[in-house]
Amino acid sequence: MQLYNSLSRKKEIFKENVPGKVNMYTCGPTVYHFAHIGNLRSYIMEDVLEKHLRYSGYDVKRVMNITDVGHLSSDADTGEDKMVKGAKRENKTVMDIAKFYTDAFFEDCKKLNIKTPDVVEPATNCIDEFITMVSGLIEKGYAYLAGGNVYFDTSKLDEYYVFNKHDSEELMVGVREGVEEDTNKRNKNDFVLWFTKSKFEEQALKWDSPWGVGYPGWHIECSAISLKHLGEYMDIHCGGIDNAFPHHTNEIAQSEAYLGHKWCNYWFHVLHLNTNTGKMSKSKGEFLTVSLLEEKGYNPLAYRFFCLQSHYRKQLVFSYENLDGAATAYDKLLKKIAALNPVESDELDMAAVEKLTASFKAALDNDISTSLAVTAVYDVLKEKTNDKTKIYLLNDFDRVLSLDLVEGAKKLSQKNEAPVEVDDFAKYVEEQIALRVEAKKAKNFAEADRIRDELASKGVTLLDTREGTKWSKE
Ligand code: AMP
Ligand code: ZN
Repeated sequence: MQLYNSLSRKKEIFKENVPGKVNMYTCGPTVYHFAHIGNLRSYIMEDVLEKHLRYSGYDVKRVMNITDVGHLSSDADTGEDKMVKGAKRENKTVMDIAKFYTDAFFEDCKKLNIKTPDVVEPATNCIDEFITMVSGLIEKGYAYLAGGNVYFDTSKLDEYYVFNKHDSEELMVGVREGVEEDTNKRNKNDFVLWFTKSKFEEQALKWDSPWGVGYPGWHIECSAISLKHLGEYMDIHCGGIDNAFPHHTNEIAQSEAYLGHKWCNYWFHVLHLNTNTGKMSKSKGEFLTVSLLEEKGYNPLAYRFFCLQSHYRKQLVFSYENLDGAATAYDKLLKKIAALNPVESDELDMAAVEKLTASFKAALDNDISTSLAVTAVYDVLKEKTNDKTKIYLLNDFDRVLSLDLVEGAKKLSQKNEAPVEVDDFAKYVEEQIALRVEAKKAKNFAEADRIRDELASKGVTLLDTREGTKWSKE
């Protein structure tokens, strides 16, 4: 399998540390608000990577943290803690906010068929591990105390900018505007491992530590949590591209300084989902969530299909027009599958299975080319073979794609077979027609016309016949 590695900036043949086993870590959500569909793009693509590894026979262990403390408004350790901000906004405690939005996140994941990682660990569960790691870094001379906080000393490293050797512009993605200067820092890139004094009054959650009562920095969370559950060597670390700097850069700095050896071999970064006006945001413009898409009548799996149609290393532009295109294609695909008629006694066509499975696997082996994997689904439908074989292959591919191909098609045909009930709209039209008849009887023609115009504005045409008023909808 070939996987693009942000560390080497090229596609590499994937090779795991321990034969047959893959250790995988994912930066989890900061649970101060709902996840937007951009966040969820990252989790969908990481889900496909994990499932493809399993499909290929690897024994995968995947860990995800939940950031419920320490992530400040700017990734560069300044501004207000996002969790505190969320709690203030809703007049609740930080822990209430964390619980509510963690649950909401996993509900969204469920709707999008994103598997829950094997281990999900909230940062607030691991304070002892953070303190152990920070103490170790101080002992080894990689960290210092200043102004009451503990900082990582980046000048002690041979190399700090691990992801931007060739392109410093891209590295700036994670640096937000309006970053204030922290005068305690010895070097521009030094970052906080443990906060005590600064921002302290605002902090709702705080713990005792050898350096005073305080709370952990955001970056140390992921290093310590992955170390706790995956040990000293990691195969793949995932996240959205904005996490590459400074978050992942700092994770590498502190983990390798602490361990004294290389830590993670492959870095998998998902490019952003943007809107026509730029970066997706929880504070600007329409806050795009899975629930909002559902309210607008979209099946969340149409959004998953939309994401799979493009490569994870390309930016993706979200617009309702683009989503409509994907939703229509997804619906058509399910209809085609619903039309299959497998015969139990038919034999599986093994030649077709081998050929089509090979092209599906080749697509994903080529740096998770999901659009080609979706093409392989259409190839199954086009193949000259029996429907039992087709259903077998669709179920097999869906172990990775998770588009509910066969199940969704079944539900669709059940829905189409269900007796048509008089819906609310039809009832409403009938009532309006009855009122119009009354109005005409009372010679109130203005009212009768008003009712006709009102219905016309809703696409309803009335036809007055001898048997009464008939109606049709465009
Ligand atoms: P956060 O909840 O802010 O910690 O982000 C959760 C995940 O979503 C991280 O992996 C981010 O890198 C990723 N992410 C943030 N914005 C986007 C976006 N617009 N498109 C794709 N991924 C994103
Ligand atoms: Zn992280």
